[in-house]
Parts: sequence; C-alpha cells; structure tokens
Amino acid sequence: MKLSNYYIPTLKEAPKDADTLSAKLMIRAGLIRKLASGLYEWLPLGLRVLKKVENIVREEMEKAGACEVWLPVVQPKELWEESGRWTFYGKELLRFEDRKQAEFCIAPTAEEVITDLVRKDVSSYKQLPVCLYQFGTKFRDEIRPRFGVMRAREFYMKDAYSFAATDEDASTWYKKMYDAYQRIFKRCGFEFAAVEADTGSIGGNFSHEFMVLADTGEDTIANCTACGYAANTEKAEILKPADVQINMADLKPIEKRNTPNAHSVEDVAQLLGVPSEKLIKLLVFTADGTPVIALVRGDHELNEFKFRALLKCNELEKASEEVYTQVTGSPVGFAGAQGLKAKNPNVKIYADNYVKNIVSGVAGGNEKDVHAVNVTPQRDIQVDVYADLKMASAGDKCARCGAPFTFKRGIETGHVFKLGTKYSAAMHATFLDENQKAQPMIMGCYGIGISRVVAAAIEQSHDDNGIIWPEPLAPFDVALVAIDYDSNPEVKKYTDEICAQLESAGISVLLDDRDERPGIKFKDMDLIGLPHRLVVSSRTVKDGECEYKNRREKEAVRWKLGDAVKQLIEKVK
Ligand code: ATP
Ligand code: MG
Repeated sequence: MKLSNYYIPTLKEAPKDADTLSAKLMIRAGLIRKLASGLYEWLPLGLRVLKKVENIVREEMEKAGACEVWLPVVQPKELWEESGRWTFYGKELLRFEDRKQAEFCIAPTAEEVITDLVRKDVSSYKQLPVCLYQFGTKFRDEIRPRFGVMRAREFYMKDAYSFAATDEDASTWYKKMYDAYQRIFKRCGFEFAAVEADTGSIGGNFSHEFMVLADTGEDTIANCTACGYAANTEKAEILKPADVQINMADLKPIEKRNTPNAHSVEDVAQLLGVPSEKLIKLLVFTADGTPVIALVRGDHELNEFKFRALLKCNELEKASEEVYTQVTGSPVGFAGAQGLKAKNPNVKIYADNYVKNIVSGVAGGNEKDVHAVNVTPQRDIQVDVYADLKMASAGDKCARCGAPFTFKRGIETGHVFKLGTKYSAAMHATFLDENQKAQPMIMGCYGIGISRVVAAAIEQSHDDNGIIWPEPLAPFDVALVAIDYDSNPEVKKYTDEICAQLESAGISVLLDDRDERPGIKFKDMDLIGLPHRLVVSSRTVKDGECEYKNRREKEAVRWKLGDAVKQLIEKVK
C-alpha cells in the first residue's frame, strides 16, 4: 500500500478533549476520529487493527466450537420485559419508538435476543449444548463516555452465548471460553490477568474478567501472590480483621467539637488532629426505594457492589438530600449514627467490618459544622449488620489465605459469565430432558470489547514518539520508507522490488513514497508504530545498502539491499 494513495490523516497535536494516551495517539496517528461524545469513526489504519483483533477472536471461537451468527442491533421491548431488564437496565439502554409507536432499544448486549432465538429452535436435550457468537455494534448510553474508544457509547463487541442441558456441560463451555480467551489475549501479545469479578447488570453467579495490565487502567486488581487469588477490587474478598478488645470502662463520653468549613474527611481529620482512619463515614442510600445507612472508615471506600449483594436489591442509589435529612435528622454531611436508632428505630444500619474496631473515633455531630469525638461504634452505635463492605485497598489481606494483597491496574477487555437459568427461566427457554420433562437451559455469556482491545494495546505498548504495535495487531508488518523515491530511479527500482517481493511473501507493507523530508516521514512512521522499518535512500543505495530498524530498538542497522527481503521475512515470521 502506497502512503501517497492512502488515507492516514496524522496530526501533530491531539485535540484538547482527548483524555488518555491511547485516545491521543489513536487520533494523532489517524486511526479514529470523534463524531460526538462516545461516538467514533474508524479510519483505514484503525480498521485494519480492529479486523486483526476480530480475526484472532473469530479463529479462537471457531476452534472452541462456537458458531457465528449475526443478530439485529434493534431489539423489541417485549423481550426485555420478559427478562425484566426493560426497567432494570436503567439509562444506559437507549430506547426509541418506530413509526407505529412500537418500542425498541439499541442492543447494549444480546442475552434476550439470543435466548429468544434458541428457545424457538431448540426443544430437546439432544440439540444441546450449543454456543453461538457474533461480532457487532453495541450501544450503551454511558453516563460519562471517556478514554476514547475504551468507554464509548457505540462500540464493537464479540458476544457469545452458550446453552446447555446439564451443569456439567455448562461448566465445560465456561472453561472452553475461558481457555479461548487465554489464547486470544496471548495471541494479541498482551500482558494480562484473568480475575474474579462482580456480575453487574448481566447477572448470574460466577464470572471472570480478562484484564490487560496497564498503569493507566480504569480497574484495580487485588492480587494475592501467596495463593494466586486475583480479583477486581469490587469483588475481592477481604479477610475480616481480628476483633480488638475494648475496655469500655476506660472510654470517655462523646463530646461535640465545632468543625466549621471542614467538608472532606481530610479537612475534619486535620482540624481535629486525628488520622482519617479514626473517622466514621456515614452514607445514605436507597435500596429499591428503601433508605439504608452504610458506615465505613474515613480512609476506606464503600464498595457498592458488595453492598448491593448484601442487600439483595436491584437498584442502589445515593439518597437525595431530602431523604438524607429525613432519615438522619441532620444536615447533609453531618450525620452520625450514634443515637440514630432512638430517633429512627426502623432504619437499618450496615457497617464495614473495620468500623467495629474503631475506638474513640470521630463521627458527624448531627448538626451543621459539628462533629462528635470519642465515638466507639461497639458502645455508641446500634449496627444491624457488620460485613465486608469496602473496596479492597492497601493493607487488606486475602480472605482465602491471609496474605496481604498487592495491587495492579488493568483494562477490562473481556468478561465471561456463568448465567445459570436467569434468562432461560424468565423467558421460558426450556428443553425436554431424557425423561421428557421440561427444564430451563443453563446459559453462559462471553464478551470481548474488540474496539477496547485496540486502545488497550496502545496503553500497554507505546513510547514518547508514538504507538508500538504488538506484531500480531500491527496494521502493516513493515514500514518501507523511500527517500528520493520520485527523484532517484535507483531508489524507486529497489523500493518497488522489495515491496513486491514482501507482498508476494504475504507480508503487508506500508510504502512511504511521499515527497516529504526524511524527518517528517520518520516521525509519522514512529507515530503509527509499525514493528519493522526499512529505509531505502540515495545515501544507502549508492553503497548497495538499506537501513533496518525495529520500532522497539533505538539504533538502525545497515543491510545489503539483496538480503533485505530474506531478513524481513525471518523477522516477521
Ligand atoms: P465495564 O465494567 O467496563 O463497564 P461491562 O462489565 O459493562 O464493562 P460487559 O457487559 O461484560 O462489560 O461487556 C463485554 C466487554 O465489552 C467488556 O469486557 C469491555 O471490553 C467491552 N465494553 C463494555 N462497555 C464498553 C464501552 N462503553 N466502550 C467500549 N467497550 C466496552
Ligand atoms: Mg458497563
């Protein structure tokens, strides 16, 4: 492919709203353009990478025995009502009406549609197990689209769904997909980890996320080097801290302190001269409409996933200011749970395990600009349930073996779930078993964000000059840079020969034949990040040579022109 005919609009500067390294580089290197918030156009170079990822994924899906289908992106409301998600999915689901006022949504995922498809065609255990997959556009009206194509509203996904008659077959499919994902991310050239994860709005009871490790990742992974347990911090089970023995007789009574203008945990801690771990943070939520209270230590973060699981509720939302004051009788930000049950006996108070060990801590003083000191939850707060309710963080220990966690950042690129019968039971997707008894099919679902994978590759592999593609994902294998292509017939001859020979050996070549200064050409190629660069110029051709450089290395080396093709074939293989 000649650059002079190709569409690669590179940019010196990234636009101001590009908020991550990969977004900046993808726009600068001419891979994508932004149409509107969370909506991106894929240009030829970007699309080549996307297709490479797609091909790897397709090959591994076929190898695992899954069958490719193609499902509509417009899905009828009725199916989503059957599963109960028309209301539960919330605002990420983009809904609309057609000309006959029938309601539809744009697919954020396809459990409903695939379940409907399979229930219509499969009626006997003899037709199971089966696994279907597709590549397609998904739309999620993300609350905060960001990080370029990593958290877009419209994105490209591979989604697969397995249906089985027995738990054993369902587990076999989960394992097959898990193994296929291992192969996929290995083939992409990634450093990655498979970690236990929360099941979110998809539901089900078991799941693993595949995380591409990168310091810029949105997710944090808690890792136990002792027993090998790894989980998203949302999911990571933390060892319950040992109870401290408290001598109640030694404790001082609660006193009030004025804390004007102290808004954050840090402000209060500093003003009162205590560490933030002495503070008791009070949060008010509504769980399916009912107000509930959560307490965590000042230096900890409440884990809403764990809280939701404990409450077994669908919707967990931060309470409005009105509900907060109603429930606590205090202005927002100043509620303390001491004595709360006396005022409001019905409200349930949930506290993280660590809160139980606070002795003479600090809580809201239940009036504006006032905090209470000497608050000891075991004496002063009537907690209904103590549980593991915090995000895993430094200092926490693994619940399985007690060794301390270490933390890494990652980008979630794939997710496998055991769904059980959540959808098949709700949507009556049944089969007749050997005894002619109707049973719900046992399902699994498996997603890979193909477009996110492209950005993750860049987050993991780049330098100050641009992208460094892992070879399996590179849009072209070789950057062939000709200097004086139009003015020196020898350069043109050798360049064209090398290009033709490489292409006939199945190696893809991007030939920079433009009449530009060498510096500009090298800068563009570094930005684009192809793994191998070969330069043919008047200067080298007169010695019968060319210049080779690997994108990961600093120095170029001279090669004989006659050896270049053979050497490159070796390198690319
Ligand atoms: P996240 O926690 O990042 O929102 P999710 O749990 O909602 O992801 P799934 O529903 O499991 O994601 O979707 C499968 C895959 O699709 C994810 O692993 C991810 O790679 C990709 N994906 C999800 N949301 C987006 C998005 N907004 N933009 C790009 N890719 C996405
Ligand atoms: Mg999501």
